[in-house]
Amino acid sequence: MLDSTIRIGHGWDRHQLEKGRALVLMGIVIDSEHGPVAHSDGDVVSHVVSDAILGALSCGDIGKVFPDDKSWTKDISGTELLQKTLEHVRKTNKVKVIQADVIVRLEEPRLSSYLGVIEERLSLILETENIRVTARHGEGIGAIGRKECIDATSVVLVQIEG
Ligand SMILES: [Zn+2]
Repeated sequence: MLDSTIRIGHGWDRHQLEKGRALVLMGIVIDSEHGPVAHSDGDVVSHVVSDAILGALSCGDIGKVFPDDKSWTKDISGTELLQKTLEHVRKTNKVKVIQADVIVRLEEPRLSSYLGVIEERLSLILETENIRVTARHGEGIGAIGRKECIDATSVVLVQIEG
């Protein structure tokens, strides 16, 4: 058990994109020609928020908690993975998420019309209104710009009650 305190976590994730695969973020199916290659559903929003929560609790990373060579994590949805992350950290600490800020980087499609509903899904699971999900594109530069991958980063603030 940790003392009652506020902690910050930082998450990063990247998945290769492939034509014909589904692109799903927080259970929302995005109209896209390509989607992530992954053992799970490749939901970078869920993955970076989960990773940041684990980071805030000094609890390893999602690769350790959700190994990508196990059958129980095969095709696991982003929403389920995030819920399981909260269950995992709440086994040993009383954890309240205060805020989550997420940036997704993807060349196309543009995500602006999906961001509100992605924020709502996150807000429901994290039980806070203090959520921002925003998107950037790669300006045609680098792996993002060449549409080779999707990536995301997040910062999450949590309160731990000892
Ligand atoms: Zn991932």
